Amino acid sequence: MVKIAITFNNNSNPGFKSGWGFSCFIENNENILFDTGCNGKDLLYNLEKLKIDVIAIKKIILSHEHWDHTGGLSDILRLNKNTEVFVLDSFSENLKQELRRKSNLIEISSMREISQDIFTTGPIANNPDEQSLILETKKGILVLVGCSHPGVDKILEIAEKHGKIYGIIGGFHGFNKFDALKNIELIGACHCTQHTDQIKKLFPKQFIEVKTGDVVEI
Ligand SMILES: [Zn+2]
Ligand SMILES: [Zn+2]
Repeated sequence: MVKIAITFNNNSNPGFKSGWGFSCFIENNENILFDTGCNGKDLLYNLEKLKIDVIAIKKIILSHEHWDHTGGLSDILRLNKNTEVFVLDSFSENLKQELRRKSNLIEISSMREISQDIFTTGPIANNPDEQSLILETKKGILVLVGCSHPGVDKILEIAEKHGKIYGIIGGFHGFNKFDALKNIELIGACHCTQHTDQIKKLFPKQFIEVKTGDVVEI
C-alpha cells in the first residue's frame, strides 16, 4: 500500500496552514517528499501536524523550479542534512550549487527509478522543464504532478508507458483537454488548477477534493 499525504496546498483542512503551492509526502518503503510548497514555516507546521518526521525524509523531488514548489526546501534541509534532492539537470546553476552544499544532489536527465515502484518522468520540456512522479500501485499508475505546465495530457502520455493510469494528483494549471481524463478513476486536481468546476462537472465520480491534511491510501 502506498500512502500520499497532502502537506501543502492552496486549500487546507481545518487546523492546517494553506498557501499558494503544492507539496505531498509519499510513504512507500521510504519516506519521500514531492515539492515543498511556497514556505518552509507552514510546510514544517503541516508536517508536524501529520506526524511526519522531517529527519526521516530520505528523498525530496522537486517538480520544477518555481517558488511555490521550492519555497520550503531550505527549511527542510536545515533540519535534515542527509536527504537526497532530485532536481532536473536544467535547474539553474545557482540553486544546484546551493543544493550541492546542503544535500546530496541528484540531477535527472531522463526517466528513471527514484525508489521502489516510484519513477520520475524525467524532464518534460517547458519553460521551466518539469518532472512528474509515476507510482506503480496495485490499482494501477498514480501520477503526482506539480503544476503540469507541459500539459496534463503530455504527462499522462509519458506515464502510460508504465501501465494503465489509475489516478492523478496535483496542480493542473490551465489544462482543458478534458478528454485525456476520461479513463482515470481518481482525479485529484488541486493547487493551481484553473478549470476545477468543469472537471468536477464532467467527472463527478472520479473527482476528489484534495486539501492539505488529506491522506490518500492506494
Ligand atoms: Zn505551482
Ligand atoms: Zn509552476
